Amino acid sequence: MEIIRSGRIHYCAPHFDSTAVAATVQGFTTRHEGVSRPPYNSLNLGMNTDDSPPNVEGNRSILTRTFGISQDRLITVQQTHGSDILAIDAPNDDYSHFLELEADAIITNQPGVMIGVTVADCVPVLLFDPVKGVIGAVHAGWQGCAAQITRQTVQGMERLFGSRPQDLQAAIGPCIGPCCYEVDQPVKDGFDKNRTSWESVAESCAPGKWRLDMALINRMQLEEAGVPITAIQSSGVCVCCHRELFFSYRRDNGETGRQMGFIMLTVTDKS
Ligand SMILES: [Zn+2]
Repeated sequence: MEIIRSGRIHYCAPHFDSTAVAATVQGFTTRHEGVSRPPYNSLNLGMNTDDSPPNVEGNRSILTRTFGISQDRLITVQQTHGSDILAIDAPNDDYSHFLELEADAIITNQPGVMIGVTVADCVPVLLFDPVKGVIGAVHAGWQGCAAQITRQTVQGMERLFGSRPQDLQAAIGPCIGPCCYEVDQPVKDGFDKNRTSWESVAESCAPGKWRLDMALINRMQLEEAGVPITAIQSSGVCVCCHRELFFSYRRDNGETGRQMGFIMLTVTDKS
């Protein structure tokens, strides 16, 4: 997954194979080329920070203009570290009301609308079904990881849109790596409530302390859901280690911006 420049923005670009039925644009933004001032410099796409709202609006406009759509076609939601999924299966005249809706993943079969999740350590995951023409964007922090939101989102695409997991392509974006993500007992307790094997995703580093690999957790959930290993890409980049490229909530003590994982169907032909 290399960093490319398109229009004004730089983004990490996973490659998804298009078909006659469906094609996409997708990526994970970096912090470059926006208008926000420190500590939100510069492409802060998060609505719920202490950054100036007009600057965030300006940044979101830079992103959408890059891909030839108006800003009201960018759909993000109120992320709550839960496991609710917003499914959009019909055109809307106005997508702005979704901004207030609480969810941590979005799936849709609608072309021409960009769905996005904002992150600053959490894992952004993008999903694409080129057979049915369906896309997904997932926000997975440790709580979402423990609640298996990525696995649930694949299952949502199956249930609501008839996607087959073996047809899906997935990209795991830049997030905080195990190098920088030390966690303690409450996090372990969160995982002990479900089927994830703690030992396979966390390494003990001190008494009562572990280093957690959230990208790996999401990869495992995708595989368990039936997505082929060869169809899963991972950036392998730690946002905390790369101050020059990415925001990191933990590194910057919460005073930081948000990058975005985004995806949009550009073509669908269901005839
Ligand atoms: Zn790191």
